[in-house]
Amino acid sequence: MKVSCPHMGHLHWMLDDLFERLGVDYVKPPPTTTKTLTIGAKHSPEFACLPLKINVGNFVEALELGADTLIMAGGHGPCRFGYYGIVEERILRDLGYDFKFIMLEPFDDGKWAFYKTFESLSPGLSIRKLWKTLKASFSKGRAFDEIYKRSLQVRAYEVNRGDTTRALKEAEQVLVPAYTPEEIEEGARESLAIIDAVDQDLDREVLKVGIVGEFFLLLEPFSNFGLEEILGPMGVYIERSVWVTDWIAPNRDNKIYGFPKQLVEEKAAPYLSHNVGGEGRETIGSIVLMAERGFDGIIQLLPFGCMPENIATSIIPKVQREHDIPVLTLAFDEQTGRAGLVTRVEAFVDLLVARRGSKLALAGAATATDAATKQPSLSKI
Ligand code: SF4
Repeated sequence: MKVSCPHMGHLHWMLDDLFERLGVDYVKPPPTTTKTLTIGAKHSPEFACLPLKINVGNFVEALELGADTLIMAGGHGPCRFGYYGIVEERILRDLGYDFKFIMLEPFDDGKWAFYKTFESLSPGLSIRKLWKTLKASFSKGRAFDEIYKRSLQVRAYEVNRGDTTRALKEAEQVLVPAYTPEEIEEGARESLAIIDAVDQDLDREVLKVGIVGEFFLLLEPFSNFGLEEILGPMGVYIERSVWVTDWIAPNRDNKIYGFPKQLVEEKAAPYLSHNVGGEGRETIGSIVLMAERGFDGIIQLLPFGCMPENIATSIIPKVQREHDIPVLTLAFDEQTGRAGLVTRVEAFVDLLVARRGSKLALAGAATATDAATKQPSLSKI
């Protein structure tokens, strides 16, 4: 059995680890590229969400590499995510591929079914061993999330452009071989130390921007053109509201984000008091939280046509007014181009710089356009 799953940001580190522990032959799809999206867009309904098109592209590329068993996360309403697996399977069968399709439903929807799914991949697997395995792989996933989170902050202060990205690559390689709980703990410490060792100018004045929105767009750098790596070198300190291990944790304690789901929902309640699917409610709650924490601005990312995020988008003007915080909304589909995105982001950063109104911003006329060489001049975080 050769098993494959679509990519979702850095989830593959955890899957590498999990399948190795389970003794499953894992066919990792090639990294997502324009070719992947072109394949997915060609075979998917035009109005399907962008993540579905990328999933289809990943699956086709994995099948071409010999995968014969495909796993897709399941789910339920109110948005279209719960139908993804069914639609994707139909598309791939219509294309003539022969494979076994497994929907992995959420743990909370049935613990026995969840266990049986893994047992079908690794016959003889006991519940105890599955639990131990998931715990170990999950803790490794947390360690990866921690280094990515730290890099979003360090990059704004780096002295030599690109140092944080280079350190991140090194830190990843420290974590990859970690296997026992002790090794994972040690690897987590060591990898964070590598990121922290990046030469930083801590006196630099930086902007503080929150990134919120639909989970796939936030987690998968290909889908957002590596937005975080565009913003960081402009001197923008970033926090984002969705992290892969927070997203898959059954209790949604949001350990990486730092704010539990319940608090985020309370913050959203005056504007949106019920679940609209995806991260719609969380987007609103996170904007309120970030505004209260003194962020300079927010960028909301969504796939074109995403129902939950479009609901959030219609509420955002009221949140912006009441919390006095600028929000830039960016919708993505297969037609979106990088140049247009960069122009909009630069203009937004310019606006935030002007808004801060610091004397350095005015004196230095530091614009986001030349931010590649000059940092916007702003008050310190
Ligand atoms: S959250 Fe939005 S993009 Fe994601 S599956 Fe639901 S509707 Fe599609």
